[in-house]
Amino acid sequence: MKYRDLNIQTLREAPNNARTEGWALLVRAGYLTRENISTKLGELTLAHLQELAKDASFLSRLSLPTIGNERETFSPIASGNVEVAHCPHCQYTERLELARFAKLPQGGDEPLLPLEKVETPECNTIESLANFLGIPKEKTAKALMYTRLNDGRFVFVALRGDMQLSEAKLKAQVGEIRLATEEEIRGAGAAAGYASAVGLSPEALVVVDDLIPVSKNLVAGANEPGWHLKNTNYGRDYSAEVVADLAQAKAGDACALCGTPLEVVSAIALTDNPLNLLLALAEAHHDDKGLTLPHPAAPFDVYLMHVPGKETDTLPPAEALYERLQAAGISVLFDDREERAGVKFNDADLIGSPLRVTVGEKGLKEGMVELKPRKSKENRLAPLNGIVEEVLSILK
Ligand SMILES: [Zn+2]
Repeated sequence: MKYRDLNIQTLREAPNNARTEGWALLVRAGYLTRENISTKLGELTLAHLQELAKDASFLSRLSLPTIGNERETFSPIASGNVEVAHCPHCQYTERLELARFAKLPQGGDEPLLPLEKVETPECNTIESLANFLGIPKEKTAKALMYTRLNDGRFVFVALRGDMQLSEAKLKAQVGEIRLATEEEIRGAGAAAGYASAVGLSPEALVVVDDLIPVSKNLVAGANEPGWHLKNTNYGRDYSAEVVADLAQAKAGDACALCGTPLEVVSAIALTDNPLNLLLALAEAHHDDKGLTLPHPAAPFDVYLMHVPGKETDTLPPAEALYERLQAAGISVLFDDREERAGVKFNDADLIGSPLRVTVGEKGLKEGMVELKPRKSKENRLAPLNGIVEEVLSILK
């Protein structure tokens, strides 16, 4: 492709709304606009990446930092829009809201104590309840109440008080839900802030986290404002239609597979999204001058340019070389502008093709062109005759 046909617009300065260095360089190099819209060059690059992605092994060839599981691959990026739980020891990786972690049963071989109704004024949160009774949160059960969208069924959820609900895990069990209204809560025989599954309407769909059946003598709501029940026990006092992992993992929770503390990593999902992949590539492959995209991810393997001469017209030999390189199957971005060498060098560095080939007056007199790999500081002269073979061997 020719530079002018793509109408590439590079920028000297990073846009002031830059979220990451990689993104700023994609804008400066003219792949994206400040509004994060793909330009012609961007579209062409995304199509190229989509084509590459048809080969399942392509990610491994892009020198990208990735973590993942059999369904999804992520690239860690500080500004990423996905939170991923990752085990640094066994590499277990999962979206945070779906991540499993090792949970500790509570109560051990404690005997099941009799239910006891206690007055707990102003204790409508787990914190206030645990403080009031002087017990740890893991000795309590918390309730969350929803209504299922497809059939309007009341869904009562219980977790141990030290756990947070993952709505994603809950939805995976029961389908789409919304928060229950006061009226629906009362209708099911519960009381907001003081609810438990004990004595609930039999119509309710009771769903409990799998820690509940292995935790004993928990304090739970009495379904009456201002009152709780001590020593509720799953199986004796209530049961559930669904027992499943419903708890949200957090940094430091033990990996379910090996026990190592989990890390929470900001990342972007690479699977099926070429724009995310381009962002990850830009993040991983750049220096202070611009992008340093690796072959085969770069949309163009060669940045070909001519330096306007004083005595000879360098454009025709550059055009001829452009045709020869393309005929050999090499993807070329030909900077055909009548610009100063410095301007073109800067743009070549920004756009980040793996190789730059420069056709200049002085070199041409000796049958040579200048060859510079994007990542090396030095350039060298190479015979114009053998340049196609040389480029091919470098890209191999
Ligand atoms: Zn692990």
